[in-house]
Amino acid sequence: MISIQHASKRYRSGRREIPALVDVSLEVERGDWVAIVGPSGCGKSTLLNLMSGIDTADAGAVVVAGTRLTGLSEGALAAWRGREIGIVFQFFQLMPTLTVRENVILPMELAKNARHKRERADHLLASVGLEQLADNLPSELSGGEQQRVAVARALANTPALVLADEPTGNLDSANGLAVIDLFEAVWMSGGTIAMVTHDAGIAARASRVIRMRDGRIIADERQTRALRLAGAVDQDAYTLP
Ligand code: ADP
Repeated sequence: MISIQHASKRYRSGRREIPALVDVSLEVERGDWVAIVGPSGCGKSTLLNLMSGIDTADAGAVVVAGTRLTGLSEGALAAWRGREIGIVFQFFQLMPTLTVRENVILPMELAKNARHKRERADHLLASVGLEQLADNLPSELSGGEQQRVAVARALANTPALVLADEPTGNLDSANGLAVIDLFEAVWMSGGTIAMVTHDAGIAARASRVIRMRDGRIIADERQTRALRLAGAVDQDAYTLP
């Protein structure tokens, strides 16, 4: 699903050059749920942003869902992203003037998925437990509810890959767990997920943990079912399409 070969990325900050990623290679299989962990500034978001094409590498090759991102124009990247990727951000980033339902419909409109948009939006909202709030504005929802809308929105176009950058970073622990239960449901139904988190308890729920330091991957561990279950999984909380 993701193949990153010898990717490097530097940022220039005044006179200093900051090596955000140093010769990173990574293969993510279909059906993996990868948690990317490590201290602040170690390159987690930069790595995730390579996967979505939000950032481009200075060197190396990035292939995601069969598309070579290196060298694609901004427009082509945006269209590709809308079709193939669902993204969940720390601060939800819902459109404030659109209702909850309209927020979930929006990516379907952008991707010109014309059919049954409203029905699909309502189905997704029901699957995250928010069908009652479809006509509300995001500002009328709690943080946890807004992030559940963001997950529903990310799934609108049935993406091959869901990317999430600190999706629980702005939530209290109860709401954070509810959101991770949703990711669990996405993964259980066959989805591929890459997620940045600084929360060890959340990382413990993933099927694979990638540890970074100073722009490099320093460990890559598969987690057994027993280890994951020790993270108190509530697999019946949600069922997603
Ligand atoms: P993490 O997600 O692990 O906190 P990041 O990938 O955001 O780390 O950043 C890696 C390094 O690159 C950090 O030193 C950060 O300060 C630097 N960096 C990230 N984005 C930029 C930018 N737009 N301009 C300059 N430096 C940046």
